[in-house]
Amino acid sequence: MPLLDDRKIGALAVHIDRSLCVGFGDCVTEAPDAFQLDDDDIAVFGERPEMVGRERLLRACEACPVDAISVWDESGEQLVP
Ligand code: SF4
Repeated sequence: MPLLDDRKIGALAVHIDRSLCVGFGDCVTEAPDAFQLDDDDIAVFGERPEMVGRERLLRACEACPVDAISVWDESGEQLVP
């Protein structure tokens, strides 16, 4: 699994910097469909991120204590961190 992972989720562009992730799982707790921990306890995208509503997805991304998850909206504005 690469250290950087990008996904388009609805209108949002979400980026996980796996090199920063410390694996506490706050993002997973908030939105387990969107984020999971891999075998090394590093965050990856979950199986159904598109099932998570925009507000919940943003909360999950904002929950990261080390700003490993970044989000841009459809206009290119960075929403998280
Ligand atoms: S909240 Fe951040 S540090 Fe914690 S598992 Fe998710 S990406 Fe990794």
